[in-house]
Amino acid sequence: MKKNVNKFIETNRQDPAKINLEERKSRFIEIYQPLANEQLKDQSERCLDCGNPYCQWKCPVHNYIPLWLKLANEGRIIDAAKLSHSTNAFPEICGRVCPQDRLCEGSCTLENGFGAVTIGNIEKYISDEAFKLGWKPDYPEKKSDKKVAIIGAGPAGLACADRLLQAGINVVIYDRNSFIGGLLTFGIPAFKLEKEIIKNRYQLLLDAGAEFKLGIEIGKDIELTELVASHAAVFIATGTYQSLSEPAILNHGIFHTEAIDYLQQVNQDLIDNKEISLKGSIEGKKIVVLGGGDTTMDCIRTSIRLGASKVTGIYRRNEKSMPGSKREYQNACEEGSEFIFNSQPVGLIIRDEKLHAVKFVKTEQVTNSDGKTSLEHIAGSEFEIEADVVITAFGFKPEQYQWLTQHQVQTDHHGRIRVQKERLQTANPKIFAGGDIVRGASLVVHAIADGIAAAREIKEFIEGN
Ligand code: FAD
Ligand code: SF4
Repeated sequence: MKKNVNKFIETNRQDPAKINLEERKSRFIEIYQPLANEQLKDQSERCLDCGNPYCQWKCPVHNYIPLWLKLANEGRIIDAAKLSHSTNAFPEICGRVCPQDRLCEGSCTLENGFGAVTIGNIEKYISDEAFKLGWKPDYPEKKSDKKVAIIGAGPAGLACADRLLQAGINVVIYDRNSFIGGLLTFGIPAFKLEKEIIKNRYQLLLDAGAEFKLGIEIGKDIELTELVASHAAVFIATGTYQSLSEPAILNHGIFHTEAIDYLQQVNQDLIDNKEISLKGSIEGKKIVVLGGGDTTMDCIRTSIRLGASKVTGIYRRNEKSMPGSKREYQNACEEGSEFIFNSQPVGLIIRDEKLHAVKFVKTEQVTNSDGKTSLEHIAGSEFEIEADVVITAFGFKPEQYQWLTQHQVQTDHHGRIRVQKERLQTANPKIFAGGDIVRGASLVVHAIADGIAAAREIKEFIEGN
């Protein structure tokens, strides 16, 4: 069938419908309904098939976006899934969680004026539909006698495992958590990424021959030395789990929780199919969440689902400067969160041994003589927000692993592992690293890109090239 080159003029960008708001606010299920077949056809045909596709360059794994949009438009879902998997180990995950407005869709030629092609949703649709049709990625049966140890079963470790298995190399993946996925499972809430998606990938990787050793912490249960001695190479993808420093005024443990502890507890109960134990501490309470990134929105929206009576997000800069995705901010607003900008906490007000309110001061951005900007408190602008619980989401940095130094693996002053850029090889040639532990807290798609690149380099290394 001939492509309608005017489709982008005739048909507006259309995002998939969201489920009913009341249901959204009470359940930990994905909020977007699947694209209907007609919608997929209309939306994929809007692509201009640009000669130099900026979306593809901006996508960190350089997906062949215009090509799989065309295949999907022609109904060739299995071909589209194969092509999409050739560059991305987990397209169904990226389609759900990538901040597309800052990546592929933000660079779509149609973005200014017509509305970008809904790339993320179509990427998700292709894999979901292909899996429903019974399609599975191909892995060779026969494996080499070489074995690679992967530390960390987050997106970086899993992507590396996927590509090594495709190359016929055995992998053993170690993780201290009880289940795979890293932050995909224990950080990102189920209303963005349902746990079934990760469980499906777990099964596919098991079927492909991956060996998982879960509930095992390197440096505690097993030493790195042991892994280095018994494997052809080691890939470290342990992420970033230490919260960035908090204002001292918040260090009053009983009223305050850190985002990652909060989300991890809720996600652990969901993965274990248990009642959410934190519900009792949040239901009917006033929650204040400090920060402006995606983790802030995740804490806000989790609190709403746990029945908080009021949730307020407070950010020290203005709305425009928030580092998170616009889509997630909009979702949090729709679900009933209030937001206050240009404000920083300066104290807690405790009454009868209970948190009564958080005291804030307004801030303003000042340009210094060196041209750099800083935030200053505005004198006399203090105000209070009533609160029962404060959650902080200020970002994360790597933990200090003593065991890294045993093998000359070097880190920078933030604790990030130093690697040779393209090769992802550490100062010890047998040890590679990638994902957040190298980049600092970043994105799922960057972790996947690193996992894929590391697998390529590890293969070269163990084959002696
Ligand atoms: P991780 O996913 O952190 O995985 C590291 C794994 O290593 C973990 O499973 C951990 O248990 C394991 N590990 C650590 N130390 C050891 C040890 N000593 N021994 C054994 N195992 C160990 N990105 C997006 O693109 N979109 C989003 O919507 C998004 N939302 C987010 C929401 C939250 C709340 C957070 C915190 C992050 C979010 N991110 C998002 C960022 C994204 O999740 C990370 O960038 C990504 O998961 C990093 O992947 P990774 O594999 O490097 O590390
Ligand atoms: Fe866009 Fe992320 Fe998919 Fe790349 S992986 S096409 S950036 S949604």
